[in-house]
Amino acid sequence: MNIHEYQGKQVLKQYGVSVPEGHVAFSPEEAVKAAKELGSDVVVVKAQIHAGGRGKAGGVKLAKNLDEVREYAKELLGKVLVTHQTGPEGKEVKRLYIEAGSNIEKEYYLGLVLDRETSLVNLMGSEEGGMDIEEVAANTPERIFYEEIDPVVGLTGFQARRMAFNMNIPAKLVNKAAKLMLGLYQAYIEKDAAIVEINPLVVTGDGQVVALDAKFNFDANALYRHQDIMEMRDYDEEDAKEIEASKYDLSYISLDGNIGCMVNGAGLAMATMDTINYYGGSPANFLDVGGGATAEKVTEAFKIILSDKNVKGIFVNIFGGIMKCDIIAEGVIQAAKEVSLEVPLVVRLEGTNVELGKKLLNESGLNIVAAGTMADGAKQIVELVG
Ligand code: ADP
Ligand code: MG
Repeated sequence: MNIHEYQGKQVLKQYGVSVPEGHVAFSPEEAVKAAKELGSDVVVVKAQIHAGGRGKAGGVKLAKNLDEVREYAKELLGKVLVTHQTGPEGKEVKRLYIEAGSNIEKEYYLGLVLDRETSLVNLMGSEEGGMDIEEVAANTPERIFYEEIDPVVGLTGFQARRMAFNMNIPAKLVNKAAKLMLGLYQAYIEKDAAIVEINPLVVTGDGQVVALDAKFNFDANALYRHQDIMEMRDYDEEDAKEIEASKYDLSYISLDGNIGCMVNGAGLAMATMDTINYYGGSPANFLDVGGGATAEKVTEAFKIILSDKNVKGIFVNIFGGIMKCDIIAEGVIQAAKEVSLEVPLVVRLEGTNVELGKKLLNESGLNIVAAGTMADGAKQIVELVG
């Protein structure tokens, strides 16, 4: 789960990481009020969306007086911001962060990520801050430094200082930077984050080391023990279909193809998507209805698939192991009754209660194409979708 920059900064503050003063604003009036309270000469008006690259896309504005704050707030609120991370459809700005302007001397990059190969958290840092770290990684990878963190010992002061030296932080500020890194690591661990990225980390004219941006991503499996983080969830930033699916505990991920997939088991779901691709089609979603799904859950899953306007056909591929084929059939029939089914439907059932499942489907009066194998089913749905 992602949160907004201003929320990330609230978390960082709790761990002693310096961030500029700021207030969230939902209207131009609130923006002006926030700027007045800050009382700094320069105020930054920052669009809050769950995507980076806002600066380059015109989502971060420097205002020199309250009139400019109002003007920028009016301009940004309601605007669809297209950055290299939002995709071409962009994201509508609904909140702003009004922040005291920092007197930036130099911008750096700092991040914590989990390296899945070593199963260790890595501290990443670079002197090349403020820009796309992906670009730095591609063109000048030697300018990014890493510190692997032992989970038992945690990030050590020595490692943090070595990172600060590698990043070429001015010598007199190395201890401040190291202290910030230790706070960042503590926040990462205690809040069960998966990624935290500070880009840029800045050194200011008055000798402070400050986090000017904050991107957090949290491990969804650990959210149950972080009520405070869960409250920061912004449903406006998430895919409506994925939110609906999470209510029913379905593993659903929306994709950009046109063949809706309903499968049980993550492995079979992946294989189904691969097979569709193999026959020249493109899946509209990943969906694992799970082992113990009820007919109601299957109905909801089917409705979610159908709510995707891009879906031009559906492929149901079920192996009834724990899941029973008749339950799937009941769910499909129920959903097709509730939502008028206008796209072709290919069903491949195998396993427990398969005969009963097939019988239910045959007697349902629905226009269903039966498939014998996964390959046969994928081929048929790709042909039907055209
Ligand atoms: P994004 O990564 O989405 O582009 P950032 O928060 O990193 O957004 O802001 C982009 C740039 O805007 C920063 O690299 C920095 O130069 C400038 N900036 C952001 N916040 C401030 C601030 N409080 N004071 C001065 N400059 C800022
Ligand atoms: Mg940034």
